[in-house]
Amino acid sequence: MTDFASKSLDRRAVLGGALAGTAILALGPPTFSAVSLPAGESAAPPLDPHFKAMAHELPPLPYADNALAPTISSNTMGFHYGKHHKAYVDNLNGLLKDAPDLAALSLDDLIKKVAGDAGKAGIFNNAAQVWNHTFYWKSMSPKGGGQPTGKLLDLIGTSFGGYDKFKDAFATAGKTQFGSGWAWLVLDNGKLSVEKTANADTPMARGKKCLLTMDVWEHAYYLDFQNRRPDYITAFLDKLVNWEFAAQNLG
Ligand code: MN
Repeated sequence: MTDFASKSLDRRAVLGGALAGTAILALGPPTFSAVSLPAGESAAPPLDPHFKAMAHELPPLPYADNALAPTISSNTMGFHYGKHHKAYVDNLNGLLKDAPDLAALSLDDLIKKVAGDAGKAGIFNNAAQVWNHTFYWKSMSPKGGGQPTGKLLDLIGTSFGGYDKFKDAFATAGKTQFGSGWAWLVLDNGKLSVEKTANADTPMARGKKCLLTMDVWEHAYYLDFQNRRPDYITAFLDKLVNWEFAAQNLG
């Protein structure tokens, strides 16, 4: 299991744990409950009707904010992680205050549930952007760049006809995404493919297994590369791409 996957599970585990804890309390200490409680009464506190799901959190960066410099500066990281990513988390938690039925869902389940629902576009956009950014930070590493190895390299060979062809396809997806969006490496029906999505959209909402992503919103590169998106993409692939993370996601 990847760190990223376990993060999503943690939240469910905590929610499940809260309920499991209630169940244990409901059993009560067996030596006392049988004798000290009048018939019909229970040692368990009633389930709290105001039980509130945990708020979504901004996960810590997997490295220091200057670890990807000079390709991605700490200045970019300060805005991108500290302001943009944080704002998506805060906006999502704000929106969920008015949607208690959705507030208990894990981030993954929430995104899949509201995808395509025009009335929930604000929740989808913020939730997907929280997920996409957490996934993006892990898609890069200070020791990244270059080719993968092993099973992943083999799969890239059979899926694209070689690493260079994958690289071209991924770079083209990033360069040709008009306006804001993302480039992705996904696993779909046992084969790898490259996709691009607009704005907050994400292949995981459609049940695809994401292996890597690259943010091509201007806020991802403008402070370091200005309008030169192709240079940012080249640097991402040559210096940052985290194949270890992609291999973990492949399972
Ligand atoms: Mn971004």
